[in-house]
Amino acid sequence: MTIFTIARSSNKKTGDIPQVAIMGDRWTPDGPHAGELVAQTCQGCRRLPKKHGGAGEARCYAFGGTGQLALLSALRAEAQKGAKYAGGWGLKGFQKALKRSARTAKAVRLGMIGDPVGDLEAVREIAAAARAAESDPFDVLVYSHFWRKIKPSDAMASVDGDNGRADEGFKEADRAARAGFRVALVLDEEDLPGPGFTINGKAAILCPAQREPVGRRAAVTCNDCRLCDPQKSGPHILFRSH
Ligand code: SF4
Repeated sequence: MTIFTIARSSNKKTGDIPQVAIMGDRWTPDGPHAGELVAQTCQGCRRLPKKHGGAGEARCYAFGGTGQLALLSALRAEAQKGAKYAGGWGLKGFQKALKRSARTAKAVRLGMIGDPVGDLEAVREIAAAARAAESDPFDVLVYSHFWRKIKPSDAMASVDGDNGRADEGFKEADRAARAGFRVALVLDEEDLPGPGFTINGKAAILCPAQREPVGRRAAVTCNDCRLCDPQKSGPHILFRSH
């Protein structure tokens, strides 16, 4: 299995919930860079940087932000066996992470980095384990850019409508919704529709964690909201491009 879980997180948007990375292969200190292994799950995505074999048409937070640094530091910690906050590899590591997670954690972020199609079998197994956790069940927050390759119960369909391609984004969002998916549609600020907007007849709302003005701390975290669980019958979600 190529799933690595970090039990705790300081991510302000998600809140302190377990974060799961999906990778093409297990990382070792003397093997390929973690970014390379993550990129193996994202082949075909228009956001994937050129250096990883992608089109690099738009920025991906996973390949430029703090996500990779947090992952790398947890991987190193786990490799040195001093991993206070890491869970570790595979289902066992995931279950360890759930036990070490914050008491307040009610969800897991399945795919803090990497796409579920990279190891769909593992993603399904881990999602089922989260929903059946001995303590309290965890909701599973998960998206895929490759929604055509998965089932609506696996992940929300992640659709790019930013970088001036709102029309294409709206059309793809409609297609995904018609195929039964809940949609996560990313748009440039100027293209964000107002209240009452629908995708294929169903409400689409702005992510509650993005309702505050840019730069101000969100009043709601994913751990509070948990709408991005594909197995919930909530609205579609609109995101401001960041
Ligand atoms: S809609 Fe809710 S769960 Fe989804 S990203 Fe926004 S805050 Fe997180």
